[in-house]
Amino acid sequence: MVSSVFVVGNWKMNGSVLLAGDFSTELRRIQPELATEVQIALCVPDTLLVSFDLDKKIRIGAQNLSEFDAGAYTGEVSANLLTEQGCHLVIVGHSERRQLFSESSEQVAKKAAQALRNGLTPIVCIGETGEQREEGKTFAVIGEQLLAVQQELGEAGMASIWLAYEPVWAIGTGKTASPEQAQEVHAWLRDQLGSVGTELPILYGGSVKAGNAAELFQQRDIDGGLIGGASLDINEFEGICRAADTLIKRKG
Ligand code: PEP
Repeated sequence: MVSSVFVVGNWKMNGSVLLAGDFSTELRRIQPELATEVQIALCVPDTLLVSFDLDKKIRIGAQNLSEFDAGAYTGEVSANLLTEQGCHLVIVGHSERRQLFSESSEQVAKKAAQALRNGLTPIVCIGETGEQREEGKTFAVIGEQLLAVQQELGEAGMASIWLAYEPVWAIGTGKTASPEQAQEVHAWLRDQLGSVGTELPILYGGSVKAGNAAELFQQRDIDGGLIGGASLDINEFEGICRAADTLIKRKG
């Protein structure tokens, strides 16, 4: 079973060199007080990947990569270019990329494979829209998104990714899935993953804040959070890290 609690920020197209400096200072203060099982990461715009000065235990990640190695793909960034910048993680298949940039599940799966081939851990995002949930299609939608990745990576590859369940209706809306709603999906995902289900972290994303992190993270199948808006506010982000820490320390 996954014994760590993962707190991963997604800055989206926000932040600045100044904010990266402020976060570095604050995270250097906070991190030594936390249990080692609190695993912190920040996924930031590519131009900020080298703007942090953090303890090595805190991982830096990107938010997208090309499925291709190199070549005439103007505006794209390859896995190799990311690793050269000290990047360890990369988000793939965020709903904003699926919706605004028309990324298909097959393309997301290819990006996840490309990340793995180059030593990057992909954080694969899946999730249903509000309309799909209302129509009772949640499991069909996330099942299709998951299957594309499973088919591309196979069992061994699946054991090396991080998965993030991010209901689209909860992203940036302030409408968090209830702990029970999130747990139901996470347990289902774990089941679909078969024998690797207990090996990879399954994160929840969607309006996680300092005030609701504890009740989400204490669910059996929720291994932490992918955090958008609240990851840009150091006090909120610290509160989420401390909620994870309290949970770890309580478990002993
Ligand atoms: C996200 O963008 O991955 C996200 C979960 O955003 P927010 O926390 O702002 O809902």
